[in-house]
Amino acid sequence: MRVLKFGGTSVGTPERFRNLPRLIGRETPAVVVLSALSGTTDKLERMASALEEGRKDLFGSLLAELEQVYAAFVYKLFESGEIYQAARHFTEEHLARLRTLAASPFSRDAAAEILAQGELLSTGLLRCLLRSLGTDFRYLYAPDLIVKDEDGMVDMDHLEKTLKEELAKSPGTEIFITQGFICSNDKGFIDTLGRGGSDLTASLIGAVLEAEEIQIWTDVDGVHNNDPRVVETTRPVPVLSYEEADELAYFGAKVLHPACVFPAHRRNIPLRIKNTLNPEAPGTLIHARRDGSSIKAVAAKDGITAIRIRSTRMLNAYGFLRKVFEVFERYKTPIDMISTSEVSVSLTIDDRSRLPEIAEELKRYGMVEIDEEQSIVCVVGDFMAERPGLVRHVFNALKDIPVRMISYGGSMNNVSLLLHSKDKETALKALHHHLFLNRPIHHVN
Ligand code: ASP
Ligand code: MG
Repeated sequence: MRVLKFGGTSVGTPERFRNLPRLIGRETPAVVVLSALSGTTDKLERMASALEEGRKDLFGSLLAELEQVYAAFVYKLFESGEIYQAARHFTEEHLARLRTLAASPFSRDAAAEILAQGELLSTGLLRCLLRSLGTDFRYLYAPDLIVKDEDGMVDMDHLEKTLKEELAKSPGTEIFITQGFICSNDKGFIDTLGRGGSDLTASLIGAVLEAEEIQIWTDVDGVHNNDPRVVETTRPVPVLSYEEADELAYFGAKVLHPACVFPAHRRNIPLRIKNTLNPEAPGTLIHARRDGSSIKAVAAKDGITAIRIRSTRMLNAYGFLRKVFEVFERYKTPIDMISTSEVSVSLTIDDRSRLPEIAEELKRYGMVEIDEEQSIVCVVGDFMAERPGLVRHVFNALKDIPVRMISYGGSMNNVSLLLHSKDKETALKALHHHLFLNRPIHHVN
């Protein structure tokens, strides 16, 4: 069994949508996880905010836009006949549900249900399409399978049990389809896994089924070795280890949801990134093997805040770091990078929502300095100890750029550098030039 996840751009036009059965047909037996058509979740999110702000007029105009998009989409997909009528009826029903939700007082649950309509619409359309082709398949409703507990963790035992039961009900069936991103919460209401969460759905499903492979179908030829929006000559990376992919997904590569590598890694299921616009391209394979072939890719994450706490009391003292960490824990704010000296500690966060309270509390332990508009540039690869000199290439590339913080050695898979966001572009270009264009580092022994 394989798990195939198709992202929003892979299903975003009627032509691409029509191509799905062919792509799926090459990979069966498969569980197909679908995202909403590209642009839909953004719009639904804006609709939910409009309701929260009491702006019903804005909600109404966004809904009218969605209605137009789907009417045109369904028409281009099916044109006429019974299936066209069924698809039209079905999309209108879901869009009408949005109107009903808008009529009641705003709540978090209503907002989640609004967001969920995108995936319900796209899977409904795929259902109609497969039916029109006479293809045998079974439809699975993701909120029955993916259930979060009160801490927001997915109940893996429930997923494994219910999914296997569902599959066993249709022994000859080769195609199962379900929604990415949506789930139910501990109270039984429809909920989501957070933006970009369809990758995570696919990885969770692949893990419990011990799938042969989890394929993430998107609109690029895999994970690129640098940010294609900044650097011109980026290339897809053919193979990454789980650890490398994890760092890249977390520190900025947009192709993968940051949490999606972990479930696959735990059960050792290969993940493959494929391009719907170029299905013959090999894409990027993410698996357990570490090939030791040095530096693989560079990625960057913006919107980082750096905090430095300087304390003379830290000299020879213990318990200082614990107190600092406890402040972040109290405000549920994750720390990304950290570096310490004898008298001070620097760390970074990307969620600034509780920064004022955090800064206030930290002042009890020392002098606090805050730098905003920082970016983390992360160089990922296999920096094994027996390969001396690899890190030197990174520093050589950045010799003219002020670096605020460096983190190396947490794993042997990345060097992270913190710099001002205004220097990010220069840094990415310099690293690219130095690591991937000028030096044949991939082949250094
Ligand atoms: N449709 C959702 C989003 O846009 C989930 C996903 O595509 O992964 O965030
Ligand atoms: Mg995505």
